[in-house]
Amino acid sequence: MADGKEKSIDKATIELIDKAQRENISTVFSRADEIKPCPIGVEESCCKVCSMGPCRMPRSKKDEGKRRVGVCGATIDTVVARNFARKVAAGSASHSDHAREVVMTFLKVARGETQDFSIKDEIKLLEVALDFGITIEKRDVKDIAIELGEKALNEFGKQSGELAYANKAPLRRQEIWRKHSVMPRGIDREIVEVMHRTHMGVDQDYRHILQQAARAALADGWGGSMISTELQDIMFGTPVPVLGSINLGVLKEDHVNLVVHGHEPLLPEMLVVASRDPVIKELAEKAGAKGINLAGMCCSANEVLMRHGIACAGNFLQQELALITGAVELMTVDVQCQMQGLANVAECFHTRLITTSDRAMIEGAEHIEFHPEHGLDTAKKILAMAIENYPNRRHAVCIPNERQDMVAGFSHETITYLLGGLFRASYRPLNDNIANGRIRGVAGVVGCNNVRTKHDAAHLAMIKELIRNDVLVLTTGCSAMACGKAGLLTPEAAHTYAGSGLAEVCEAIGIPPVLHMGSCVDNSRILIAATAMVKEGGLGDDLSDLPVAGAAPEWMSEKAIAIGQYFVTSGIFTVFGTTWPTLGSDKVTEHLFGEYEDIYKGMWAYEEDPVKAAQLMIAHIDKKRKALGIDKARERVLYDMAMRRAMD
Ligand code: SF4
Ligand code: SF4
Repeated sequence: MADGKEKSIDKATIELIDKAQRENISTVFSRADEIKPCPIGVEESCCKVCSMGPCRMPRSKKDEGKRRVGVCGATIDTVVARNFARKVAAGSASHSDHAREVVMTFLKVARGETQDFSIKDEIKLLEVALDFGITIEKRDVKDIAIELGEKALNEFGKQSGELAYANKAPLRRQEIWRKHSVMPRGIDREIVEVMHRTHMGVDQDYRHILQQAARAALADGWGGSMISTELQDIMFGTPVPVLGSINLGVLKEDHVNLVVHGHEPLLPEMLVVASRDPVIKELAEKAGAKGINLAGMCCSANEVLMRHGIACAGNFLQQELALITGAVELMTVDVQCQMQGLANVAECFHTRLITTSDRAMIEGAEHIEFHPEHGLDTAKKILAMAIENYPNRRHAVCIPNERQDMVAGFSHETITYLLGGLFRASYRPLNDNIANGRIRGVAGVVGCNNVRTKHDAAHLAMIKELIRNDVLVLTTGCSAMACGKAGLLTPEAAHTYAGSGLAEVCEAIGIPPVLHMGSCVDNSRILIAATAMVKEGGLGDDLSDLPVAGAAPEWMSEKAIAIGQYFVTSGIFTVFGTTWPTLGSDKVTEHLFGEYEDIYKGMWAYEEDPVKAAQLMIAHIDKKRKALGIDKARERVLYDMAMRRAMD
């Protein structure tokens, strides 16, 4: 196996990959060396939707010029479109099922049926209630919340009409969606319809299949994900800038370490409350520890970081490595992005791995189901288990000495406040600085890590290229954590890494050049921020007019494809790296990369090299600036290698 330096650019990660290798512990990094990706699958040239197949139709030299069709006659274009649409459906389903859990909990909170949950942000409750057309005057907060919960739940099963939140988009965007019949009706309905249309022998026109993929993705971005973000904010508080720290060095040798991993913030919120209980603290001391150290992993980390400043242990590819420190007493996992390999690694140490969602169990892990009705009790029980396990450490503890301070919590509300203050809150200063060229444009860089590319490297190369070219970056998910580890989420980073225009604005407002906006479902915050820019005026009348772009340079999850698809069909140019899942069909790829611009005024692109990908985004931003007539406001500075090295 190659050494850690070839796998990651993060020192803590490299240290623990090397430890795993020395101790012969299987991790995602070693397994990736053992299993090469299937070349037919990589280009999505395989159909297995019926048992007459699987039909393999690779783009091979041998079959060059041959019409590639499956046993039933399905063309390669139909097959590739089906595979792509199913990825969108799975990704949308994941976000939206997470959202359903949040809505159900919200309703229970509103009805007073939960333990220790409450409505923390009443102002946001009223705002969201108005978005849903709920009367708020002279009504009890509890009644408003119940009605909101019921209406939000109804968005999932709605069979016709339009999603409530789709009406938050700029009017021009809504017209485009209606014109092309992709305005989402109900969240579940759109996902189910993708699955129906891609069943054997149903929809067999790749453009038509991809139209439904667009509708399902919009149901995710402007439906499930947005509902989830908004109701989480109401229950747990809308994030405001908070100081936190990140990387495996946040684990503490003399504390009971409990890592919360997954996506739903329900249990993590309760663990935060319970860990502050003096009885729990006393229990930890009795076990010989100095206290409880709660740390996050993946998007659960983003959630508790943004609201409580809880430290982040790391992003997706660091999950097994956290256990290899030998310092983790207990890890909880709920849904999404949890590797089954965790169970084997946990067995090598004293770590207790606990699954907590009724949707997901892992063979070899213990299962303690979380229900909000007994939220605090369950959290206390799990903390007690972690404390009980502290004396059972049986390996030398090896915690890398890597941790970095960062600022997170830039919700849309916070950005509005920072830009304009309490009484003049608005996006005007941002729009003005874009128009005058200090800020060239805005990029949303989001998404996963992927073991097939060097951990964190593409995120950082792309983001550094963007900010040095005066592009303000909004980030979420594992990308945000990569930025945190590299020191890009501090106000000082503006001086070190940003171009002079962006640095000037960041220094004036006191923000980093890269804004941490949350977890993967919080990409909806980026949609809202972009919509606010349009509504502020001066930068066109649609999202596609804005000098903005999106990217996921290290994506791996189907959720990332769903996110990209809703960015694109919302009018935003979006570039992905690592690999691209339609390479088996030129027609499908051309449709997504070219024809989409005519239809949705946004399109996909694929570029493996993150710096070149950033340049594509910058070129797109410049194209939009020119169309808006604001291109003359800035002079283009092209950086040569020596200038780049000086900034690295
Ligand atoms: S649906 Fe057609 S292409 Fe797909 S596996 Fe069945 S026969 Fe093959
Ligand atoms: S960014 Fe990707 S890998 Fe990271 S938590 Fe989200 S979906 Fe999982």
